[in-house]
Amino acid sequence: MNLPSLYIVIPCYNEQEVLPITAPMFKAKIEHLVSQGLCSDESKVLFVNDGSKDSTWDIICSLAKKDSVFKGITLSRNRGHQNALLAGLMHAKELCDVTISIDCDGQDDINAMDEMMRQYHDGCDVVYGVRSKRDTDTFLKRFTAESFYKFMKLMGAETVFNHADYRLMSKRALQGLAKFKEVNLFLRGTVPLVGYKSTSVYYERNERIAGESHYPFSKMLNLALNGITSLSTKPLRYITTIGLVMAFISFLVIIWAIAARFAGNTVAGWTSMVGIMALIGGIQLFCLGIIGEYIGKIYSEVKQRPKFIIEKTTDDE
Ligand code: UDP
Ligand code: MG
Repeated sequence: MNLPSLYIVIPCYNEQEVLPITAPMFKAKIEHLVSQGLCSDESKVLFVNDGSKDSTWDIICSLAKKDSVFKGITLSRNRGHQNALLAGLMHAKELCDVTISIDCDGQDDINAMDEMMRQYHDGCDVVYGVRSKRDTDTFLKRFTAESFYKFMKLMGAETVFNHADYRLMSKRALQGLAKFKEVNLFLRGTVPLVGYKSTSVYYERNERIAGESHYPFSKMLNLALNGITSLSTKPLRYITTIGLVMAFISFLVIIWAIAARFAGNTVAGWTSMVGIMALIGGIQLFCLGIIGEYIGKIYSEVKQRPKFIIEKTTDDE
């Protein structure tokens, strides 16, 4: 049996402190996986330099010069973690059979890759690395991160709970992902939409080996908003619902105002005032919701997402 070639894809942004420490760890991992018969000796470590301002790219170049297991690509400028990762995955999909994406800071346990590769050999196309606990994160980071997943779910952006971008993807899963033409791509939400057999592997998240996080609260909020607005139109649906409820309540208010008028305990003009206010408010919100629904449709049309991805036909069996 031919062993699959693996590319470990690693986005790096200003990581000069941590790269010299973690690069040998990734290399050792590849050697270990090769010795276990889990991947071929053609496997590589692919660094994506996301427009770093420090010497990250120089380090990647010198690694690649010394050892052919290391490869690198560099982006024209900083485009953010998601785009850097996508660039790496799309580059790798032409060159290998399976990829594992991971951060370069050593926070995600590389030993989970063994199990990921085993699941791949058992027929899974996507294997999510899921954090089993977050003891090493500060309370604030843990709280914001967990609220992030819950809020995303409420807003209709379905993601795998406590899974960041540490995941294995097969070549055909990547080819499926490549069919998603949207510009605002939120990988954690889109990969589940690609489909195919998937599973999760659990690991403990460590502290950053060196350097500091590039995901402050503001960037996380940005990621959440981007995730929601690029995956779902649920917020628009909520507006329609609120509009409908308001229209119904205003109807009751109008009846009440008329009743109060006939009961005689009102000043002149009050009934029509309350009635008009309630009516206009309810109708306005409802109409806004309807317009929102159409904008939602336009939004999903312009995305031109693939409507389906065929897994296999009877001829493949
Ligand atoms: N990263 C990137 N571009 C950016 C910010 C981050 O490629 O604009 C990379 C970074 O080098 C790291 C990964 O994305 O490999 C995750 O970033 P970080 O560790 O700072 O985030 P955290 O783990 O704190 O959420
Ligand atoms: Mg990190």
